[in-house]
Amino acid sequence: MPDDRGRPVNGLRALRPAWVEVDLDAVRHNAGLLRRLVAPAELCAVVKADGYGHGAPEVATAAIDGGAALLAVALVEEGLALRAAGIAAEVLLLSEPTAEAMTEAVAHGLTPTLYRMEGVSAARKAAAQLGRPVPVQVKVDTGMHRVGADPEELLEVVQAVANAPELALAGLWTHLAVADVPDDPFTGVQLARFEHARAVLAGAGIVPRLVHAANSAGAIAHPDARLDLVRCGIALYGHLPSAALAGWIERALGEPASLAPALSWKARLHLVRRLEAGERTSYGRTYELATASYVGVVPLGYHDGVPRRLASAGGQVLVGGARRDIAGTVTMDQIIVDLGDDDAVRPGDEVVLIGRQGGEEITAEEWADRLGTISYEVLCGIGPRVPRRYVGGGSSGGACGPER
Ligand SMILES: *Cc1c(COP(=O)(O)O)cnc(C)c1O
Repeated sequence: MPDDRGRPVNGLRALRPAWVEVDLDAVRHNAGLLRRLVAPAELCAVVKADGYGHGAPEVATAAIDGGAALLAVALVEEGLALRAAGIAAEVLLLSEPTAEAMTEAVAHGLTPTLYRMEGVSAARKAAAQLGRPVPVQVKVDTGMHRVGADPEELLEVVQAVANAPELALAGLWTHLAVADVPDDPFTGVQLARFEHARAVLAGAGIVPRLVHAANSAGAIAHPDARLDLVRCGIALYGHLPSAALAGWIERALGEPASLAPALSWKARLHLVRRLEAGERTSYGRTYELATASYVGVVPLGYHDGVPRRLASAGGQVLVGGARRDIAGTVTMDQIIVDLGDDDAVRPGDEVVLIGRQGGEEITAEEWADRLGTISYEVLCGIGPRVPRRYVGGGSSGGACGPER
């Protein structure tokens, strides 16, 4: 029987038979495919949110193996976790760290993104303690209106960086709001604003070494957004940013090529029982068995990232190579599934929540469609209580063992 244990949960060895399986060869394949798609642009592997739920250090290592030149994360804490795991690659912070966090970020060689004068001051102070120029990047807001310098304030921020002996301007970047809708003209508007910002800086004699704008959708559907570097998250994990991008990679490369989903989510049935017709299951007793049926208990619940509303949204799992309905309300730690009249299912049989079994497959996109969300939220919603097991990724050794 395969070893169901994965990376320890909160430092504890996992004893519950429920786990996420991450195929590091798939991550490496996806990184290689994206790199080929965008070359000569470089690939930045976005591993925020613990690598979209896949495990950041492991996928970072596989992505670099596959051709990614650097990594990006949202939080300083996430960058520190990569350093603690022994990852030495360049790590870009996608938001400006607070003044308190800046010292730690710089001390650990993370590359801050800056867009406020306070950020520039904090970075100068942190860098002064280091005694050598620290690379930083500056972000300009071209219409997403989340973070980034206003275009009118950009020159002031960039000049403050350029004039600071403690800092080195390593890049200028922006972020696209609708790149996953290929024919939305706003992407062109944002790219034109970004060009204008570069021209203003060039007029002041400042030419950033790297310029970048594209997320996965930009990289796939907008060749003119690729510039020097693309920042890919979801595509690295084997998912398209939106269904509208189906076929775009193949067309661009002129060959059959596809992203490989890296994550499967599995468990073993805890117990199986037979109930009479008319019996009702779980909290609220909303699910009624029309005929006498077997039901099974899966040791995963909403704390683990199976949303409570998945059952009423038609959610299913795979058992014995067949689709089975979730039978009633998802509870915190367990769900019940309807096995119908299948008397061959036993406790300990494998359950697939996301992934393949036999000829069937349930995708993160299927969950997302049922739940009215996107694959991103499904994947990074898988809780920290679920251990991550790794398969593949052999070439770089240590970081990828199944017991991590
Ligand atoms: C999360 C993020 C990305 C990656 O987006 P995907 O759609 O997952 O490729 C890129 N850039 C920034 C600034 C981000 O926050």
